[in-house]
Amino acid sequence: MAAGCDVAVVGGGIVGLAVADAVLAARPDASVVVLEKEQRLAEHASGRNSGVLHAGFYYHPDSAKARLTRRGNQLLHAFCADEGVPLRETGKVVVATGPEQLPALAELHRRGVANGVPLEMVDVAGLARLEPLARTHERALWSPTTASADPAAVVEALAARVRRRGGEVRLGAPVTAAGPGWFEADGRRVEAGHLVNAAGLYADRVAQWFGVGEEYRLLPFRGLYWYAAADSLPLRRHVYPVPDPRFPFLGVHLTVTAAGRVKAGPTAIPALSREAYAGLGGVARDELGEVARTLPRFLAGQRTAGPRLLAEEVPKLSRRALLAQARRLVPAAHEGLFRERGRPGIRAQLLDLRSNRLEMDFVVRPGSASTHVLNAVSPGWTTALAMAEELVPGVLSEA
Ligand SMILES: Cc1cc2nc3c(=O)[nH]c(=O)nc-3n(C[C@H](O)[C@H](O)[C@H](O)COP(=O)(O)OP(=O)(O)OC[C@H]3O[C@@H](n4cnc5c(N)ncnc54)[C@H](O)[C@@H]3O)c2cc1C
Repeated sequence: MAAGCDVAVVGGGIVGLAVADAVLAARPDASVVVLEKEQRLAEHASGRNSGVLHAGFYYHPDSAKARLTRRGNQLLHAFCADEGVPLRETGKVVVATGPEQLPALAELHRRGVANGVPLEMVDVAGLARLEPLARTHERALWSPTTASADPAAVVEALAARVRRRGGEVRLGAPVTAAGPGWFEADGRRVEAGHLVNAAGLYADRVAQWFGVGEEYRLLPFRGLYWYAAADSLPLRRHVYPVPDPRFPFLGVHLTVTAAGRVKAGPTAIPALSREAYAGLGGVARDELGEVARTLPRFLAGQRTAGPRLLAEEVPKLSRRALLAQARRLVPAAHEGLFRERGRPGIRAQLLDLRSNRLEMDFVVRPGSASTHVLNAVSPGWTTALAMAEELVPGVLSEA
């Protein structure tokens, strides 16, 4: 076995890089290597998301998402300022499409207050002052700390900081096997004091090498986006709908990117395999079989809600249907303005096989000489630096 490192991180997305960065900040002499299977960074969720720094008001106060989002938002703001990554202070409004959504809007407000997030309920006139293009029924929620940054630019800047701190970020380095105290890459077995599994869409498989997370199956959901032509829609704020609390998805929204472009999406359509960004293109056969076995369990587990989610989401493969949703929030978001496809993203969403329900929270599990970050779905990009802060003591205790 080759002499190795104190800490090996599988996956060079924002989570893996954030952990490597935090380990090196806490112990500058540690040898840390990040192994990324792709030749380039930000090829998966960390470079293919909405780029929204969430504020932290959606989540139940007892959840890891609630605990980590407000802190993650602050840390990511500071990181962008320190590293010169452009950030746009858009704020966000959540609007109601009818009276039936007002109780859920009030619940978001309650959660936000419980989570210590700056938040204000505004009336129709207040919304018009904040974002004249948005429409609501009676009330809307205003979140001043929601912002946006280019997700790939953040990942690149974080990798640069890891390297500056003495860490190694190795590209084109798939980890093909691992166990307590070792991993295998490039056909070589290497020693590692502690392994951090931040493999995103493959984190469940890496965890299973350690006998961790057997109660979960990955069910990938694909998010499609459309961009409005530059300067065709003068939106200033992110505009979101009231989400369905039974699912971990926020619904089609309109966001303003760091560069000032307006983007509509994402969908939450079951994907045929984990990295099948092009629909039928690039579908992995074994994964298709896994999806075919897992999807019926989801549909059975969530009773009427699961089939309804599918019935609502699949039509959004069509631009017209997706933009029809967006127009309920911003009537001026005409289909004709949105002709440029965004890079689709796929969520590493887990189904809990015990309940056949989607896991709503992050799942972080210790293993033998290892830590496993599972279900790193939204707002995992916002929370990465805060999650890393929490993980470091456990990682270093064994490294
Ligand atoms: C459509 C969409 C929209 C989203 N919007 C937002 C948002 O606006 N705000 C927000 O906060 N979050 C958002 N998220 C969530 C956010 O993108 C994720 O939580 C976050 O990027 C997860 O980071 P990660 O490092 O775990 O995963 P990834 O970015 O997927 O990184 C994992 C890496 O591991 C590598 N890897 C896998 N297996 C191996 C192996 N065996 N060996 C070596 N490398 C391996 C992969 O190549 C990949 O680069 C969104 C997600 C999606 C899909």
